[in-house]
Amino acid sequence: MSRNESKGSVHAMADAKKIAIIGGGAAGLAASIAAAREVKRTGACADVVVFERDDRVGRSILATGNGRCNFSNANPDAAFYHNASFVGAVFEAVEREYAEGGNVTLSGGFSQNAVLRFFDGLGLLWREESEGRLYPMANKATSVLSVLRDAMRALGVQEAPSQRAVRIDVPDRKGGRYHVRFDDGRVEHADAVIVACGGVLARGLLPESVPMCDAVPVLGPLATDGPVKSLDSIRVKCVIELHGADGRVKARETGEVLFRKYGVSGIAVFNVSRVAEPKDELVLDFLPQVPTEDCEAFLVARARRLRETFGEDGAHMGQLLCGMLLPQVADVLLHSAGVDERDQVSGEHLRALAYVLKGFRLTVRGIGDARQCQVHRGGVLVSAVDDKSLQVQGLPGLYVAGEALDTDAPCGGFNLHWAWASGLLAGCAAARSALGASRGGKGSSC
Ligand SMILES: Cc1cc2nc3c(=O)[nH]c(=O)nc-3n(C[C@H](O)[C@H](O)[C@H](O)COP(=O)(O)OP(=O)(O)OC[C@H]3O[C@@H](n4cnc5c(N)ncnc54)[C@H](O)[C@@H]3O)c2cc1C
Repeated sequence: MSRNESKGSVHAMADAKKIAIIGGGAAGLAASIAAAREVKRTGACADVVVFERDDRVGRSILATGNGRCNFSNANPDAAFYHNASFVGAVFEAVEREYAEGGNVTLSGGFSQNAVLRFFDGLGLLWREESEGRLYPMANKATSVLSVLRDAMRALGVQEAPSQRAVRIDVPDRKGGRYHVRFDDGRVEHADAVIVACGGVLARGLLPESVPMCDAVPVLGPLATDGPVKSLDSIRVKCVIELHGADGRVKARETGEVLFRKYGVSGIAVFNVSRVAEPKDELVLDFLPQVPTEDCEAFLVARARRLRETFGEDGAHMGQLLCGMLLPQVADVLLHSAGVDERDQVSGEHLRALAYVLKGFRLTVRGIGDARQCQVHRGGVLVSAVDDKSLQVQGLPGLYVAGEALDTDAPCGGFNLHWAWASGLLAGCAAARSALGASRGGKGSSC
C-alpha cells in the first residue's frame, strides 16, 4: 500500500499539500508521474490526485492509433504544430527540465527527446514505422497505459475516477488554496491544479479571467459538394491540395483518400482538415507521377499504344482509363470531364480528361463527422500561459496541459507527443509551486 493510500481517502488528507490533476488522459497521467517524482525528489509530503470524470483513467489513450497507440514521432519538430513557436519553447523547457538521465534507450539507439527518455524510464519498448511513427513494441495501446499506471502506483499517485470537475475557484488570498468543485457538489482544496481535460474543456471550469477561444473538432473527414456518393468506400492514392477562397494553396498532402457518401476521409484528408474552411476547394491529383504540363501528351501516347493492342476498340475514352483507375473512379472522372466512355478519343476529350485527372475539384462544406475527429483546435490561448512552466499567467499554482491548450498537429504521433511533453512540464512545475520548492532545491519535508 502506498504512503498516500495508507493515510486513507482523498478527503481525509485536508492538511497535506495537494496537487490536483483534472483529467486522466495522456497529459494528466504524464503530469501526475512528473509531479509525484518531484515530490519524491524533494523528500516533501504531498498528495498527487488525478480526478477523472470517466469510470477509469486512460480510456482516451486506449482509443488511439486504432488501438495500437502511435504514441510519439521520431521527429517531433515544433514546426508541425499550430502555434509552433510556443510549442517549440515548451519542448525546449521540457528538455532543460529533463536533461539528465541515461541516453541509450531500451529500444536501442539514442533517445532524441525527454518524452522518449520518460517512456524508456517506464520500461516501454517501441518501434518506428513509416514517417517516424512510434508504436509500442507490443503493438497495443494497453501496454502504454500499463507502464503509466504502474509508475503512478509505485509513486503513490491517487486515481479518483467518476469525478467530473465543474469549476475551479482561485485562492481568496495570496498563498491560499484552489477550490475544485465537482458536479456532485463536493469541493476539493489543492495547492496546485493542473487542467488536463482534453479538447472539449468546459468553458465554466477555468476562472473567467483565463482567455480561451472556442474549440472546434479537426483532424477528421471532410464533407464536400461534388460527385462522391457513387465512390463510397473506395480508396485512391493521390496528392491533395486545399485551395482557399483566394486560390492560395493552404495545405498539400500525399496519401490515401477514402471516399464517403458525404465527402472524403483518410489520413491525408484528416491532415488538411486542420486548416479547411467552408468553400475551400480540395483539388485531387490522380496522376501525381506525371507533371501537369505533360499529362495531355501522356494520354495521347497512351491512346496510341492502346490502339496498337486493341485496334479501334482501344480508341474510345472508356478504354483509356482501364488499368489506370478503378471503374467507378474512371466513370466519375469522365463524367466530370464531360466525356462519355463510348466517345472516340480526340484531342479535345484528352485535354478535358487531363484537366480533371490532375485537378479533380470538391468544394468543402465543413467537417464530415465530428465524432471521428482526433483533436480540437482552440481552447486556452497559448498567450495565457508561461511557456517555461505552463502556469496560467497571473495565477500561481494553476497550470494547463495537453489538448486543453490551443495547439494541434497532423497525424503521426505528434498530438500525443505534445500531451506527454506538456504534461511532464506542468507536472514538475505544479509540484514545485505546491511545495514552495525551487529547481534542484528541497521543499517543505514531511
Ligand atoms: C480516435 C482517436 C485516435 C487518435 N490517435 C492518435 C494517435 O495514434 N497518435 C496521436 O498522437 N494522437 C492521437 N489522437 C489524439 C490524442 O488522443 C490526443 O491528442 C490526446 O489524447 C490529448 O491528450 P489530453 O490528455 O490532452 O486529452 P485527453 O486524452 O482527451 O484526456 C482528457 C481526459 O480528461 C477527462 N475530463 C474531461 N473533462 C473533465 C472534467 N471536467 N473533470 C474530470 N475529467 C475530465 C476526459 O474524460 C479524459 O480522460 C487520437 C484521437 C482520437 C479521438
